[in-house]
Amino acid sequence: SPVPDYLADVLDAVRSIDDGAPADYIEVLAKADTSRLAVALATVDGEVYVAGDSDVAFSIQSISKPFAYAAAIEDVGLDAVLARIGVEPSGDAFNELSLDDGTHRPMNPMINAGALATHALVAGPDASGPQRVERLRALMSAMAGRELGYDEAVYEAELRDAHRNRGLAHMLRAGGIIHAEPETIVDGYVRQCAVSVTVRDLALMAATLANAGVQPLTGRQVISRTGVRQVLSVMTTCGMYDAAGDWVSNVGIPAKSGVAGGIIGALPGQLGLAVFSPKLDAHGNSARGVAVCERLSRDMGLHMMDVS
Ligand code: GLU
Repeated sequence: SPVPDYLADVLDAVRSIDDGAPADYIEVLAKADTSRLAVALATVDGEVYVAGDSDVAFSIQSISKPFAYAAAIEDVGLDAVLARIGVEPSGDAFNELSLDDGTHRPMNPMINAGALATHALVAGPDASGPQRVERLRALMSAMAGRELGYDEAVYEAELRDAHRNRGLAHMLRAGGIIHAEPETIVDGYVRQCAVSVTVRDLALMAATLANAGVQPLTGRQVISRTGVRQVLSVMTTCGMYDAAGDWVSNVGIPAKSGVAGGIIGALPGQLGLAVFSPKLDAHGNSARGVAVCERLSRDMGLHMMDVS
C-alpha cells in the first residue's frame, strides 16, 4: 500500500541526519544503537502503518508522563491534580527544579518535578508503590492494545543514578506537594519510565488520545474525554522540553518526547504517530524524529492550526 512506501521514503530522507547524541546520563541509553530509525501511524479507525525498525523496543521514558497525568486525573479528579501541579510551560530543562513561588507546585506535569508529583497521585491517596506502578502499566497496556513489560536494565541503571530525581522528590515532600516516601515515588517513577514499547505501541497509545480516549482496536474507553483534553493541552504547551514553541509552530501536533529517542504526536480526531531514533538534539528531542515529524506534518497537512 502507498502509505508504508511513503513512510519508508520519509525515513530514507532523514537517515543522513547524524546530529546529536544519545542520552548519556543513563548508562544503558548511552550505549543505544544510534542507527535505529522507525515510524508508525495509527488512525482513529484502527489502521496502523509502520516503517523502519518498527519491532525494536525501547524505554518509554518521558513519553509516560502524559499517560501518568491522565491516570492521576482519572484517579483523584482534575481539581486535586491542579491543586498540586500547574499547567504553565517552564522554559527550563526537564530535570530543573521548577516550582511556583507561592504554592510550591511544580510548573507542569511534563517536567520531572511535576511528573514525580503526578506519579504520587496515581491510583489515589492510599495507594501503595506497587499499586501505582501496576495502574500505570495496565493503563499504558490498554492504550497500546497489548500487555507491556519493562526494560529491566534501564530501570536498574536509572535507579542507581537517580540522585537528581531523589533531590526533586525530597523538595516536593518538604513543600507538602507529596506525602509518600520520596524514595518510593522515585522508584515508581523510574519504573514508569522503563516501560518497554515499540513505535507501533506508541502510535496506538497516541491514537487513543486522538480518539477521545477510546482505543481504536479494542473500542475500550480507557481515559475520559475530560482527561484527554487536559492531557493534549499540556502536551501542546509543554510536551517537547524547552523546544515546545518551535515544535508547535513547525509541526503543530500535540506531542511528547522521551530521552530514549521516542516522540509521539496525537492529532485530535485523526491519528496518532510515533517515531524512534536515539540521537537527541540540544533540547533533548530525537534529532531525526523531529525531522520525520516536520515532514509528515507538511506532506500530510497535519498542522492543527491549518484551515482545510
Ligand atoms: N527517566 C528520565 C528522567 O527522569 C526521563 C527523562 C525524559 O525522558 O525526559 O531523568
